[in-house]
Amino acid sequence: MKQRAVIIYGPPGAGKGTQAELLVRRFQFIHFDTGRYLEQLFRDPSAEADPVLRKEKKLFDTGILCTPSWVLKIVSDATRRIAEAGFSVTYSGSPRTDFEAFGDDTNRGLLPLLEEMYGRDHIFIIMLEITPETSIERNSHRVVCSVCGLPILAEAKLQRCAFCSGPTRKRTLDDPEIIKVRLKEFADRTYPIIEGMESRGYTVKRIDGLPAPYKVHESVMKVLGISQ
Ligand SMILES: [Zn+2]
Repeated sequence: MKQRAVIIYGPPGAGKGTQAELLVRRFQFIHFDTGRYLEQLFRDPSAEADPVLRKEKKLFDTGILCTPSWVLKIVSDATRRIAEAGFSVTYSGSPRTDFEAFGDDTNRGLLPLLEEMYGRDHIFIIMLEITPETSIERNSHRVVCSVCGLPILAEAKLQRCAFCSGPTRKRTLDDPEIIKVRLKEFADRTYPIIEGMESRGYTVKRIDGLPAPYKVHESVMKVLGISQ
């Protein structure tokens, strides 16, 4: 299989993470999650010895955004290593800003790097579409495993994770009022990036995110040109 870079956007609850994980499980993609990657960097005890990491960790811990040029560098370095190791890569919900996607005069953005590593024809940008009502409905019922983090289907009404038997928990992000804020944030932040991508000649494929995840996965595969 030729290597691909797949960027998946969508409002909260659209199933970005699930679609990325399906690519991981079925096609050995690396799912690069910027937030989790940063957390891991900061958790490493050696972070304390590095003054730059220490400064960024303080920002992260207080809920302030880390320095964009630093995040871009971290993400770019990791992406380069993933590509050089011969893996396809997928991002869910990022790049989050025009700067992260395209950089500026002194910083090279993620998209130009992906073009170099994977080739423009192997970059796929997908928007999973659901209505605000579906987003609120799905998020207010979102349950995950407290150990492995896998989502638990609300309809299944399970107390334990089917994968690791860990106890399930409701995600705290998911109060209806908070979801409304996240929906607005999503629209304000993501639509301009999508427009920026389209104006630079990228095709953004819109996929209906309403069907069951395996059905949406079929649509994703069609976009990627992967046949069963
Ligand atoms: Zn589990």
